[in-house]
Amino acid sequence: MAKIARRDQDYSQWYVDIVTRAEMADYAPVKGCMVIRPWGYAIWERMQRALDDMFKATGHQNAYFPLLIPQSFLQKEAEHVEGFAPECAVVTRGGGKELEEPLVIRPTSETIIWAMYKKWIQSWRDLPLLYNQWANVVRWEMRTRLFLRTTEFLWQEGHTAHATAGEAVEEAERMLGVYKRFVEDWMAMPVLTGKKTDAEKFAGAVTTYSVEALMQDNRALQAGTSHYLGQNFARAFDVQFQNRAGELEYVYATSWGVSSRLVGALVMSHSDDAGLVLPPKLAPLEVVIVPILKADADNSAILTAAARLAEPLQDHVRVKVDDRDNVSPGWKFNEWELKGVPIRIEIGPKDLEKGQVVVVRRDTREKTPVPQGEVPVHVADLLPEMQQALYDRAKERLEAGCRPADTYDDFKKILEEQGGFVYAPWCGNAECEARVQEETKATIRCIPDEVEAAGACMICGNGPAQRVPFAKAY
Ligand SMILES: [Zn+2]
Repeated sequence: MAKIARRDQDYSQWYVDIVTRAEMADYAPVKGCMVIRPWGYAIWERMQRALDDMFKATGHQNAYFPLLIPQSFLQKEAEHVEGFAPECAVVTRGGGKELEEPLVIRPTSETIIWAMYKKWIQSWRDLPLLYNQWANVVRWEMRTRLFLRTTEFLWQEGHTAHATAGEAVEEAERMLGVYKRFVEDWMAMPVLTGKKTDAEKFAGAVTTYSVEALMQDNRALQAGTSHYLGQNFARAFDVQFQNRAGELEYVYATSWGVSSRLVGALVMSHSDDAGLVLPPKLAPLEVVIVPILKADADNSAILTAAARLAEPLQDHVRVKVDDRDNVSPGWKFNEWELKGVPIRIEIGPKDLEKGQVVVVRRDTREKTPVPQGEVPVHVADLLPEMQQALYDRAKERLEAGCRPADTYDDFKKILEEQGGFVYAPWCGNAECEARVQEETKATIRCIPDEVEAAGACMICGNGPAQRVPFAKAY
């Protein structure tokens, strides 16, 4: 197998090599689109399942709304259309003729959902509506990258309707918490959370909250967003309800989403120069057993031992015996390392004699001989240990990647030389924020709940300022 690029030499080629060579995704015939292959899709399915359980545990139901949205719907909310119009794909012909009204392929579904909520909400008794949908969306992107930014991608979008502003804000914050928990507990990716600045918030939102992770090249990645939409969409679609006092009032809304870009984030967060490294909870396979077969020999004893080893694991662990006889054991080791299977168990003739196996963990590549009978217990202990170890390493990296800067010169120097989240004083003015972005490409990733007061803004010198995390981001 040809080697993949090294992280320290060409990070973005390294990323593409892993995604394509681990058979997670491939380029589609249409530029900017991708095909998600079974290994990549299995990771997405595990993410989906975990998130879906968390959404249901917080009272949400799944529904499905159509892919095609009348163009006029998008125009009803002024900020929303301004934000999304340039990225929209529009269908103008159908059934062999021009359509009376062009149809937009959903870039997000607020408009069609609020058009329907108008039919379903009349009274406070109809609230809250807590809906989520799993869907694909299309945003016409100019510069794309597998999983991280593609023209069509998979996601979930929650859309909720509430009787009071307080309830809606609480919902938006609750879902931010769900995302943080998912990203940290399942993806082993520690994050910063906070509110977006006005310049960075979702088109049509009052407040956007986000979950921000740090990749190994010290660039930030927005892993999920949750929006408090106020009454903006209710006004645009005239969705009023009779409140408890009998008065008509506009409904309060939230929306929140994470997408298949999380798969890209997962790759960039933990992987190494040998390939993908996956947290066990999201690995399509947790354990692969590789019997060391000899060409032109009787391998039946080894094959039987491998199958016996798998048996007690099957009920609790995603395990596979790789008994292919057309590739060498070494080739298999490389392949499963490339694909990021957390634990490899090797069993050869000598191991068989000693009644043992060799357990190899993917993250550290450490090899441990384990008596055959102890394999189930060993695996049961090792998987959560690896999950935690990946989180701890990522946490250490995140903490090391957060640095303060007091002056704009310091800021630029740290950003260029080290990257990461640079905590610098900002006055709150959008012009200062825009200047930083124009000159350095760094943006304010979020305003954390607790911010440190800092004397003067590093750009304009005015106070009071607060220290906020800037970063270059994916
Ligand atoms: Zn300023």
